[in-house]
Amino acid sequence: MRSASSRVCGEARGAHRGRAVIYHRVALIGLGLIASSMAHAMRRAGAAGEISGHARSAETRAVAREIGLCDRVCDSAAEAAEGADLVVLCTPVGVMGAVAAEIAPALKPGATLSDVGSVKRSVIRAVAPHVPPGVHFVPAHPLAGTEYSGPRAGFATLFDNRWCILVPEGADRAATDRLAAFWRALGANVDEMDADHHDRVLAVVSHTPHLIAYTMVGVAEHLEIVTESEVIKYSASGFRDFTRIAASDPVMWRDVFLSNRDATLDILGRFTEELFVLQRAIRMGDGALLHDYFTRTRAIRRGIIEAGQDTPVPDFGRSAVGQAGE
Ligand code: NAP
Repeated sequence: MRSASSRVCGEARGAHRGRAVIYHRVALIGLGLIASSMAHAMRRAGAAGEISGHARSAETRAVAREIGLCDRVCDSAAEAAEGADLVVLCTPVGVMGAVAAEIAPALKPGATLSDVGSVKRSVIRAVAPHVPPGVHFVPAHPLAGTEYSGPRAGFATLFDNRWCILVPEGADRAATDRLAAFWRALGANVDEMDADHHDRVLAVVSHTPHLIAYTMVGVAEHLEIVTESEVIKYSASGFRDFTRIAASDPVMWRDVFLSNRDATLDILGRFTEELFVLQRAIRMGDGALLHDYFTRTRAIRRGIIEAGQDTPVPDFGRSAVGQAGE
């Protein structure tokens, strides 16, 4: 969904962690929600001396120039990456390998190459073969997003108090620590994980829930009794939250499911089993099972609030746009 967010490049909402240049030059390849939020957050923190950027279409590059997203908007990815100390791939995961191949000759020795892709094993498989010797490849994934996309969608506070998972897999320690400091400056908490573990965790907390939301909205669309006006009129209940998640960018999510196939299918299989258990309990009138089940799930919700990852305010997350994505 390409839409202008009402949010502007904004004031700090979370902890402000001081101003210090961490990379002299940062290049963002792909200028959508995540890259534009990074640009705003970098400016807020003073974390980059200069920001260059590139997006595939002339239209997106024109918007980026118009809103002054980067210091330099370049017509090719290689031009943007040339001479950068940090290059971050911010495209859909399905094209990251091709983009890495394109920019490889332009990467300077000692530079760090990273990404923000929602899936890690397939990105590592696609990108790593193109990384020149002397360049540090440190994959990353900020667990923050909204259902909006494009260069106007970003805002400086997107990463505040969210997690950014680094997947160094043997990368240079100093380069990894520097990237961690960069993400902390952008407001995030940083953790490290193995790529397979990351993909499995994300299949549970993000990828499968998105698929379920897409499915539920698809079910409503196919039900003849639910006319368009009824869906809109009565959507104050849970359905509205499904529609918000199901409005997420189709290209991004197509690539996520194609790239994290095994973990998503595994979690989806478990989901289907649980669904049958609940379906049977409803059919058999087993109120005790349903009550126990919902009591356990409620405790998980409490844990998320206690961990500061959502608000107890009963707005169903609708005002907290920054918490809507993964
Ligand atoms: P987005 O808003 O749709 O932006 C994607 C950007 O990539 C656009 O600027 C697009 O350019 C550009 N692009 C596509 N193909 C390209 C290519 N071959 N060369 C150069 N640029 C290209 O996407 P996003 O939400 O920022 O997501 C970007 C990445 O972050 C994805 O890998 C996603 O998995 C990850 N991520 C997303 C979220 C989320 O909730 N949205 C959260 C965490 C991580 P055009 O506009 O010209 O097409």
